[in-house]
Amino acid sequence: MSDVLIVGGGVIGMMLARELAQTGAEVTLIDRKACAQESSWAGGGIVSPLYPWRYPEAVTQLATWSQSSYVHLSDELLDETGCDPELRQKGMLMVDVDDQEEALAWAKRFHRPLRKVDAGFVYQKEPNLVQGLDEALWMPEVCSIRNPRLGRSLRQSLVNNPKVKLLEQQEVQGFVQDGRRILGVNTKGGVVRGDKVVIAAGAWSAELLKMVGKDIPVKPVHGQMMLFKAKPGVVNRVILKGGRYVIPRSDGRVLVGSTLEHFGFEKKTTGDAARSLYKTALGIIPELDNYAVEHHWSGLRPGSPEGIPYIGGVSGFDNLFVNAGQYRNGLVLAPASIRLLADIMLERETIIPAEPYQLDR
Ligand SMILES: Cc1cc2nc3c(=O)[nH]c(=O)nc-3n(C[C@H](O)[C@H](O)[C@H](O)COP(=O)(O)OP(=O)(O)OC[C@H]3O[C@@H](n4cnc5c(N)ncnc54)[C@H](O)[C@@H]3O)c2cc1C
Repeated sequence: MSDVLIVGGGVIGMMLARELAQTGAEVTLIDRKACAQESSWAGGGIVSPLYPWRYPEAVTQLATWSQSSYVHLSDELLDETGCDPELRQKGMLMVDVDDQEEALAWAKRFHRPLRKVDAGFVYQKEPNLVQGLDEALWMPEVCSIRNPRLGRSLRQSLVNNPKVKLLEQQEVQGFVQDGRRILGVNTKGGVVRGDKVVIAAGAWSAELLKMVGKDIPVKPVHGQMMLFKAKPGVVNRVILKGGRYVIPRSDGRVLVGSTLEHFGFEKKTTGDAARSLYKTALGIIPELDNYAVEHHWSGLRPGSPEGIPYIGGVSGFDNLFVNAGQYRNGLVLAPASIRLLADIMLERETIIPAEPYQLDR
């Protein structure tokens, strides 16, 4: 039996497994698919909340801690696995922002690098940006990460680690409970046991918690993305406009995102979204009209009220924990979210106060 059994192999489950194994724990990670095929694959990989000042302080706290750890994490994963998560620290430009004063006040309050820049600066950084802009907000330290590669390198790091047992293609269908303790989970292949059990199943976490009689308001929020096969230099950094964004990859490909829709657990791509994302892309970088659309996909974000995740123990149980509900920001929030839960589980001093993320907050 493992010390810890984690249900869900997205970035949250995988990073937590890696962190706990590094402390010497024996960890089993179980996923009904291969790891990192759901939201953690589908996302864009901006290592910042979009318009970060519009989120509550609880999100800023997690984001700030995570952002300071991403360069090191990315280097470590490359060393451990040979798979480069392609972290690019090129900054984020935000144009047509109508609440600039709030943004500047937030930056001052939380000591975040964010400033107003003029058109000369904007077009020097991004010559292909749509013409006619007078100014922008600029966050020079923001990174992006190629999340499918982050997923691959995290998975490889777990495969390489003798402390971790990876059980893929095994769906958790229920829990084995003895009073206040969860003894393990039911799968088609039998019971998998763990001394402590963590639910880190993204948008599906609330469904799993329901099986033990607990409710949290984590719901799937559908998002569609489009990928252009552009060449390096067409776009150089993350650009936000009108609530949407473009994200360049190192090979020149450009992602455009994203929609926010409610279709329950159904994942689909629609013609309406394709047209709308294409329009968004050209509204930011008209030059993208010269490049082919290579892919259009969707994913399910683990939506939560105000985007504040649930991190901590489940009341009524001695050994059941949750880490879910990172909503639009699971990639950026992951390092701090998992470190906070590891601190709680190991009864260490927590990196930030745990109260805002409690299940019964
Ligand atoms: C279009 C889009 C764009 C995004 N862009 C960004 C961005 O730019 N920056 C950012 O920070 N975040 C972004 N996100 C959000 C981010 O992707 C998510 O918040 C994050 O990936 C959630 O990670 P997770 O590990 O909680 O969930 P997931 O990655 O969804 O993983 C959950 C795992 O649980 C498994 N599972 C579920 N049920 C069971 C079961 N019964 N038994 C076993 N396994 C189970 C699933 O198979 C899955 O592997 C975006 C998301 C989308 C959809």
